[in-house]
Amino acid sequence: MSGLNGLYIHIPFCRQRCDFCSFYLELYRDQAATAFLSALQIEIGIYAQREEMQGRPFQSVYFGGGTPTVLGAPRLIGMLENVRTAFELSGRCEVTVEAHPGTVSKQDLRALAEAGVTRISFGAESMQDHELALIGRPGAACETVTAVLHAREAGFADINLDLMYGLPDQSLDSWRQSLERCVEMSPTHLSCYALTIESGTRLAHNISTHSRPALDEELQVAMDEAAQEILSRAGYERYEISNYAMAGHECRHNLLYWTQGEYLGLGPSAQSLWNGARFGNVANLSAYQTALAGRRLPLSDRAVLSEEERLRDAVIFGLRLIRGIPAQHLHNHGMNYGHEITIEELRRDQLIEQDESTMRLTVKGRRYADHVAEKLF
Ligand code: SF4
Repeated sequence: MSGLNGLYIHIPFCRQRCDFCSFYLELYRDQAATAFLSALQIEIGIYAQREEMQGRPFQSVYFGGGTPTVLGAPRLIGMLENVRTAFELSGRCEVTVEAHPGTVSKQDLRALAEAGVTRISFGAESMQDHELALIGRPGAACETVTAVLHAREAGFADINLDLMYGLPDQSLDSWRQSLERCVEMSPTHLSCYALTIESGTRLAHNISTHSRPALDEELQVAMDEAAQEILSRAGYERYEISNYAMAGHECRHNLLYWTQGEYLGLGPSAQSLWNGARFGNVANLSAYQTALAGRRLPLSDRAVLSEEERLRDAVIFGLRLIRGIPAQHLHNHGMNYGHEITIEELRRDQLIEQDESTMRLTVKGRRYADHVAEKLF
């Protein structure tokens, strides 16, 4: 465990659902949002009274979703105040809010910054309007440019842009243009995710009925290489498979997932790793509210992690970091003969490399990170 503690709050609302999205969310309604906030307040109160929370300040608080900013700045600020009253936050706590660029005004951003939000993460997805339309993501690319400008004026020192590549009909050239346009905005952090097709989404349906082309994996590999090339040239360091940052601007909250920190997740469908147990909340707003109205935690599952599971998590998540994991990690966690043979095979296939102190994925291995994880455990 890294000793880092994070708090994640899932805001389960968006104005509409993008075609590729499989997150748990509801379409935004004012009344539903008010009821959700009351239930969340009870959930915060239940945890705040627990002895286990004492002496464990959070180093990061992350409002994710969904689209947290559909709630409006005053309600987000109110929520942050409730969190501060209930829990201990460390002195330099990173506080992130995810935002759809079209849902925040200059005044909202200023109010969030003044209230102590330190990091804003915009879901840009693409800087090409026709690509946004093809994935059913509302809004236009120029909204991202305006939002970044306003965030900087509001005083945000940490600004992230989320981008996706491998979109339907996206060419390598248009991806390169999206990256270049993002670089021009000088965000401090960029997350570049390869599009995956999740079953049950509108995009999966559109591909199965041939109204959208299927994924081209070779093109995705070329796009990943283009991101590495363009972003490194612009001074960003790739520190995780999908994440790039200017020095000193890595996302502390995400780092705790990859370095075995612990996190408490609140809100419907939020996941936690807390006190050595992994548990999740129900992915249903009404069941979430009913449980909390009865002063019960809205859990759907809970399991205490075994040593084997801890090892698995430490290796699988740790290997996502470009710096890799200490080679001793596996030994310290009780690596067995089976692991040693698998590691040798993965080295032979040039998927991982290891020196005396460190084990990491190779460039080729990063493309097959899931396969490596599957082989190891
Ligand atoms: S804005 Fe984000 S969370 Fe909401 S539907 Fe689109 S991808 Fe999903």
